[in-house]
Amino acid sequence: MPCTFTPAFCRIDLAALRRNFRRLGPAEELMPVIKSDAYGHGLLPVAAALADAGALRFAVGTASEGLALRRAGFGQEIVPLMGCLTPEDWRVAVASGLTPLIAGFDDIAAAAAAARACGAGVLPVALKCDSGMGRLGFTPDEAPELVARLRAHPVLAPRFALSHLSSVDMPDEDAYTDMQAGRFARFLEALRDIFPGILPSLGNSAATLGPARAQSGICRPGLALYGGNPFTGTEREPLGHGLEWAMSVAAPILAVHPLRAGESLSYGRIFTAPKDMRVAVVAAGYATGYARALSGRVSLLVRGRRAPQVGRVCMSMLMLDVSELPDVAAGDLAWVLGGPAEPGQRPVDAQELAQLLDTIPYEVLCLMGGLNPRVYA
Ligand SMILES: *Cc1c(COP(=O)(O)O)cnc(C)c1O
Repeated sequence: MPCTFTPAFCRIDLAALRRNFRRLGPAEELMPVIKSDAYGHGLLPVAAALADAGALRFAVGTASEGLALRRAGFGQEIVPLMGCLTPEDWRVAVASGLTPLIAGFDDIAAAAAAARACGAGVLPVALKCDSGMGRLGFTPDEAPELVARLRAHPVLAPRFALSHLSSVDMPDEDAYTDMQAGRFARFLEALRDIFPGILPSLGNSAATLGPARAQSGICRPGLALYGGNPFTGTEREPLGHGLEWAMSVAAPILAVHPLRAGESLSYGRIFTAPKDMRVAVVAAGYATGYARALSGRVSLLVRGRRAPQVGRVCMSMLMLDVSELPDVAAGDLAWVLGGPAEPGQRPVDAQELAQLLDTIPYEVLCLMGGLNPRVYA
């Protein structure tokens, strides 16, 4: 449940999500990433859409997200990318038939104990390699020790070898990506003698779409599923063409009123009307994920055309200059992301907002999706 009740809302286009998934390749080669409530798009509806499109596996963040999927009836393989933190997490992972992450030596005994306690037979696990992200996992040098310890626990059945690329969306960093792929290959080599069926999984969205695909095994795209192009602004940008944003966000206009030349509006009076204007008050603000730092920096789509946002963004309201849009009235929708555009007009997208905020579209999607009620189309 979103944590605020607000007239602003997110509209999630599940058909676009399914098209993005299919565009990323055959289902056998993919493990779509639906962590963090599917990047703000909603865990269960997104999982259902991807299952419809043929998804065989899911990567989630936590064991409890995996449990939520099982309770909703999903039978796919599920890997929680953050691993299991507590004995309860391990119990949930085993009892729910997840494929838990083994990312450190302590995880081996914990996983084996949970598998035995559950009497569930052999437990499939995902072995995490740190190939250069510096986050979770075993280094390639630790692989022989890992193999030896796993052989002492035949209840654990390594199913995946996982690693994560830090900069594959940056063509200038290709050498680092190659280095990571090399380290992962070394890790895999050490495991394959003993666990010949283990499936490698390295790539994220950028690897799925780009030249690193060849070394990526089963790809774990996140951003691209939701329509984001990880190569935006690089020479590889065309590789992400055709992806469609699944999230749009709209809020109703509460009122339209005149603002006379010389009058100011909103907190701090950062905007003063240079001429007689018409202003629309929109029910969106930083409490609904529209960052205050965007004040006066973006225009939103109303009736298919862009209207400049003016003055400070408030908690749940912001103002637009609709002087050029004489038909705009209370009750009309202002589109914070997406929405229908007239020819020659471009909807706002998460990439545009991210650029202005010096962040990445992931953050915009998580915040907008998490703070607004969602409707599905
Ligand atoms: C989030 C995440 C992904 C997906 O990354 P995108 O850039 O969104 O495609 C893949 N693997 C791991 C381990 C992740 O944490």
